[in-house]
Amino acid sequence: MTLRLAVGGFQHETHSFAPRPTIFADFERPAGFPPLSRGVALIPALSGSQTALAGAMPVLEEAGATLLPLSWCLGMPAGPIEDSAFERIAAMLAADLSDALREGKVDGLYLDLHGAALTDSIPDAEGELLLRLRRILGPEVPIVISLDPHANLTAAMVEYSDGIVPYLTYPHVDKRETGATAARLLLDRIAGGKPYAKAFAQLDYWMTLSSQCTMVEPMKGVMAKRAELEKGIAALGFCFGFPYADFADCGVAFAAYAETREAAEAAAAQFLTFLNGLEERFKPDALPVAEAVALALESSRGANGPVIIADTQDNPGGGGHEDTTGLLAELVAQGASGAVLCLINDAESAAACHAAGEGATLALSLGGKSDGMPFEGEARVLRLGNGSFPLTGPMGAGNHANLGPCALVEFAPGVKVMVASRKTQAYDQAILRHLGVEPKDCPIVGLKSSVHFRADYEPIAARIIVAAAPGPVIADPSTLPFRHVRPGIRMRAGDFGGRAVG
Ligand SMILES: [Zn+2]
Repeated sequence: MTLRLAVGGFQHETHSFAPRPTIFADFERPAGFPPLSRGVALIPALSGSQTALAGAMPVLEEAGATLLPLSWCLGMPAGPIEDSAFERIAAMLAADLSDALREGKVDGLYLDLHGAALTDSIPDAEGELLLRLRRILGPEVPIVISLDPHANLTAAMVEYSDGIVPYLTYPHVDKRETGATAARLLLDRIAGGKPYAKAFAQLDYWMTLSSQCTMVEPMKGVMAKRAELEKGIAALGFCFGFPYADFADCGVAFAAYAETREAAEAAAAQFLTFLNGLEERFKPDALPVAEAVALALESSRGANGPVIIADTQDNPGGGGHEDTTGLLAELVAQGASGAVLCLINDAESAAACHAAGEGATLALSLGGKSDGMPFEGEARVLRLGNGSFPLTGPMGAGNHANLGPCALVEFAPGVKVMVASRKTQAYDQAILRHLGVEPKDCPIVGLKSSVHFRADYEPIAARIIVAAAPGPVIADPSTLPFRHVRPGIRMRAGDFGGRAVG
């Protein structure tokens, strides 16, 4: 008999201390991702996109299943989701699932979740969503979810689902593969006829974002160990955590699934011991911005390729507004002629550049809308663009950028800045190429990104420097005013000094 499988998704990575709250409209048309899609419109909107759901659907269809599309939406990382926005999204998913049940049985549910969402009053939004959908489906119907590994995995998320499958890469270049893996786990779970035994564990220390990159050590070795341990069991879902969410379950966690409790617990215990042995390797490592720019200037002399400066603390993928100007000010102050910054999100300045026209010079008060520190100066407009172009890098290909009116401007002494009307993480070379800049020909490229840029930029980079310019995505999260994290958690990995948490 044909399986009837419901599919949907909800994605948000919430930064408790980010300057802007997340509202319903943020989910309707996110830049660079499919729009909020519901029912039959979901399948064409998501097919072929850089999402896990796009990878799951063909696997389920090839298995002969009938897809029951619910709702899918994604909001760019920012501050806590307004309760009303979450309630509307949860209500859509619940209503769609309820409708699917009116038409016939539902044999399973696959959800494309992020795993680090919190709302004004719900600290574990995915746990809450899963509980509600679990109540609708009842205890027997398998639910498998894919996650972004920046999920702050909770016991509730593990309890109310039958399996979790996070991406294995950061930069996330395996979203579709992860969706396919989750789909196969759901099919296996249905075929097996009974739930897997589960073992859930949380680490006592946090991993900074820049130390989570899976292309380099220590994470490369961690992912190899995870794969080795998974060989003997059904699944080992590992989440690195998003250390900017102020709630008790913020941090690193994983769940092992096996036929027997003993096998799940043995794999979890081995992985926990392995990770605990690596704690010292996950310490914060960003340089103060002045040092980072000086080092970039020195390194770029005679270099074969650009020196990349990651402006990690304004990473829009971590909840930054992408308009802080600390790195720009430092590039100008140190005379970094030829350097280019990608990008400053400032619709007002982009409009002013379009009004002035290519070749014009105008006074700009650029960026700084989120923190009150704009960069003031005379800018020459080098190039204008409409912000609409296909992404081409390993993370973006398949998605279309929609940044609104854009401009490339230059401040003396020759520091170029891309100005856009909407924010997007600077992880794709197509963003600069849209305005005629070839990244590999620039001596220094500043990027508003923490790690994702590495997928497209590492092949051309002579050197990568992580800079800590003022911004909300603090490279050392232990300096933020957390109030709700677990007692005893080490927010600075390796810091056994007993920092008080209250
Ligand atoms: Zn992520």
